[in-house]
Amino acid sequence: MKVHEYQAKDILGNYGVAVQRGSVADTVEEAVAAAEAMKADGVGMYVVKAQIHAGGRGKGGGVKLAKSIDEVREKAEAILGMQLKTPQTGPEGQEVKKILVTAAEDIAHEYYIGVTLDRARKMDVIMASTEGGVEIEEVAEATPEKIVKVWVDPSLGLQRFQAQYIARKLGFEGDQMKEAAKFVTQLYTAYQKSDATIAEINPLVRTEQGQIIALDAKINLDDNALFRHPDLAAMRDEAEEDPLEVEAGKHHLNYIKLDGNVGCMVNGAGLAMGTMDLIKLAGGEPANFLDVGGTANAETVEAGFRIILSDPNVEAILVNIFGGIVRCDRVARGVVEAAKNVDIQVPLIVRLQGTNAEEGMEIIQNSGIEIESAIQLKEAADKVTAALGK
Ligand code: ADP
Ligand code: MG
Repeated sequence: MKVHEYQAKDILGNYGVAVQRGSVADTVEEAVAAAEAMKADGVGMYVVKAQIHAGGRGKGGGVKLAKSIDEVREKAEAILGMQLKTPQTGPEGQEVKKILVTAAEDIAHEYYIGVTLDRARKMDVIMASTEGGVEIEEVAEATPEKIVKVWVDPSLGLQRFQAQYIARKLGFEGDQMKEAAKFVTQLYTAYQKSDATIAEINPLVRTEQGQIIALDAKINLDDNALFRHPDLAAMRDEAEEDPLEVEAGKHHLNYIKLDGNVGCMVNGAGLAMGTMDLIKLAGGEPANFLDVGGTANAETVEAGFRIILSDPNVEAILVNIFGGIVRCDRVARGVVEAAKNVDIQVPLIVRLQGTNAEEGMEIIQNSGIEIESAIQLKEAADKVTAALGK
C-alpha cells in the first residue's frame, strides 16, 4: 500500500527520524492559514507540494516555492485540482486533491537514502548517495559507484558501524557524522517496525545552518502485514488507487489493470502469467492480470466478469481454469451462471483442464450461452486469435 508524503513523514517522525513536517490542506484557504501560522513562527519562505501517490512531482510542476503568503495562495490555487503528470503517473496524470505546505529550507546539499528488501540476498539493503534530488535510477545507471550499499541481516538489525559507514561515505564528519548515522538508524527502525517494503528519502538535505533533515519521504507498506498496523491501514487513500483494483480487492480478487484488449480470468498467479504469455502469442495483448484464487465459484467469477468488462478496451475474454481442488464442472456451472447475470458483449472463450474437465465442457456446450470452450492451451489460443479477427 502506498501512502502520501505527509503520511510517510508522520510515520518516520514517530520513530524520531528528522523529517521536515508541514501542514496538509484540502483547500486554498487551509493552505493560506497554515502558511500564516508558520509565518507567526518566523518562517519567511514556503514550499507548496502536491500530495499524490507518485514521485517526480517537482519535475511535473507539483512542487513550488512561495516567497510570501500571497504566493502561497497563488501556488495553492495552481496546484490544487491540477492534473499532475510526472514520470511515475502515466500520461493522463493524477488529480491533486491535497497539498502540503512546508517551510522552505536553505539547502546546502541534497542526498539520497533508501531502504528496501534484497530478495536475492534475503537481507534488507540500505542505499545512499551524495547525488540526491535527481532521479536515483539515472545515477544508478550512469554512475553506479556513486551509490553506497549496505546489507542488513534483519535478524541482527542494523549495526552501529554500518550506520557510521554510510554517514562517512556521504562525506559527513564529526558531530554531523553522528547525526547522519542516527538518521540512518532511525530510518531503518521505522522501515522495519512499520513493515514497510520501501522507505526512501530523496532528498535528505544538509541545510546551510548545518541541520540534517528529510525534505521528502516515500513509504510503501506491506499489504500482508497491514493487519498488524490498524493505524497505518487507516492511511489508505482509495481515491489515489485504480477504482477497478479497489473493487477487485473487495471480492478478494487479485486484479491488475493493463493496457491490452484481451481480458483474462485465471486461477493461480503462475497460470495467470502463463495465460498472459499465451494471449501475446496469439496476437492479442492482455487487458489485465486476474487471479481468482482457489475458489472459482459463481460469485467470484461474476465479480471478475464485471470488473474485466468495466474496461472499455476489452475485445475478448479468456477464462483459463485448472481444476485441481476446485472441480471443473463446478467452475463451468459458475461460469454459465455468471454469464447469465452479466451482459457479456464480447467473445468468451473458456478453457478448463484438470479434474472433471470433460463434464465441465459439456455443461458449457449445453448451456445455450455463446461460449467457446477449449481443453488444450493451443486450442484456446487459436480461438482468441479468431475472436480478435486476426
Ligand atoms: P518529488 O521527489 O516528488 O519531485 P520533492 O519533495 O523531492 O518532490 O521535491 C523536489 C525538489 O524540491 C527537492 O529535490 C528539493 O530540491 C525541492 N524542495 C522540496 N521541498 C523543499 C523545501 N521544504 N525547501 C526547499 N526545497 C525543497
Ligand atoms: Mg523527492
